Amino acid sequence: MSRYLVTGGAGYVGSHTVLALLDRGDEVVVLDDLSKGHRGAVPRGARLVQGRCADPVVLEQAFALGPFDAVLHFAALSLVGDSMRDPMRYIGDNLAGVTSVAGAAVKAGVRKFVLSSTAALFGFPERVPIDEEQKLEPVSAYGESKLVCERALDWADRVHGMRFAALRYFNAAGADPAGRAGEDHDPETHLVPLAIGAAMGTRAPLTVFGTDYDTPDGTCIRDYVHVSDLADAHLRVLPLLGERSVRFNLGTGTGYSVKQVIESVGRIGGKPVPFSTGPRRAGDPAVLVASSAKLREATGWSPRYGALDDIVRTAWAWHSAHPRGYAKAA
Ligand code: UDP
Repeated sequence: MSRYLVTGGAGYVGSHTVLALLDRGDEVVVLDDLSKGHRGAVPRGARLVQGRCADPVVLEQAFALGPFDAVLHFAALSLVGDSMRDPMRYIGDNLAGVTSVAGAAVKAGVRKFVLSSTAALFGFPERVPIDEEQKLEPVSAYGESKLVCERALDWADRVHGMRFAALRYFNAAGADPAGRAGEDHDPETHLVPLAIGAAMGTRAPLTVFGTDYDTPDGTCIRDYVHVSDLADAHLRVLPLLGERSVRFNLGTGTGYSVKQVIESVGRIGGKPVPFSTGPRRAGDPAVLVASSAKLREATGWSPRYGALDDIVRTAWAWHSAHPRGYAKAA
């Protein structure tokens, strides 16, 4: 049995990873200020320390609950649009978070660290699928913030021997197949929950951002990866950290268009998604699909819920049971 500190463990990907750790019998301490995360997303088996992860007093409290085998750092600001309104806050907060947590980990003798990173590091990629060799050229302050976080960890590795894994998520979607956790952002900006909410009538009709892209149906193509598969990847990289730091792109390798997502939601939910078409959203590349060959080879990871319909089915089930998210659990 191991013990882990999970910052942002009350958030979307964090909470699913906490479940995966508890399911295999590990102990978990969640550090979350609940500004975006939800108390209801922290499973009973985990301990919650409520506070900001850049606060030294809070960090001391959290690390006192160790010793930890590793830290998994999810806590961060993560909205691309917001980051372009307030870039200094995004870069400042996300960098302060990672340097504070990694600094406290070093002090506590923890030398293994997993960072939530993002496909936004690649900006408008030169080719797809996107492998780890491609140029890192973010086109948003959010992407830049994660790039500087990765670079900060290089120094923790070089100076302190802190081994880290940076996992560059593509489009996280879906919900725990057992229905214990799901996606609940405020505001919600992601396609799958917005399309489901539109079909259920709990949200406004969807606006499709652009139908004139150079793709077969004119709408953007993304690599939707099930959140429980993302969680599984975190568990699988931990054993590598005895030896070296790693960076992996994390997606299924298959892309689906916005129209295909709309069709899938209509099919799975049995209700069509009401939508209109609108202009392109600034900063959206036509196609983002990951090559996860490096991750698969190093860890044996492969998605268990690789088909879009599987992702939508679990998301639909969670939203049906929680029409108002964690605020009003059924
Ligand atoms: N999208 C859309 N309407 C919406 C939200 C998203 O057409 O209301 C599109 C968006 O342009 C992108 C895809 O859906 O092509 C996925 O967007 P999301 O915000 O979920 O993730 P991102 O790719 O920005 O990380």
